[in-house]
Amino acid sequence: MGDKKKTREILLRERAETLEEMNFTKKSVEYEADYVYGEGDPGIVEREKGMALTQSLSAKLAAIDHALERLDQGVYGLCTECGKEINPERLEVLPYATLCIKCKSELERHA
Ligand SMILES: [Zn+2]
Repeated sequence: MGDKKKTREILLRERAETLEEMNFTKKSVEYEADYVYGEGDPGIVEREKGMALTQSLSAKLAAIDHALERLDQGVYGLCTECGKEINPERLEVLPYATLCIKCKSELERHA
């Protein structure tokens, strides 16, 4: 399973970028929070978008941390559901993926 050091670098870079993006989004949401919206104000949608983005970014951050942990445990790149290797191409696109495509699509189908 690939180069551990390189994978860690990729994950750490992704982590730093996510943190930066999160701080940026948070700041804009906080800034907007001072503003009093009227009904049907398009700013409300923007603010909700920002909050949703912050949430998805923090979920991403948790996934990256999880992947780093798994790297330390030597189980990085293995599906947490079935234990099989996750497709390397999938990991290249989504280095913090913890499910193989098969398990992920099965989970989504049951969601
Ligand atoms: Zn799986």
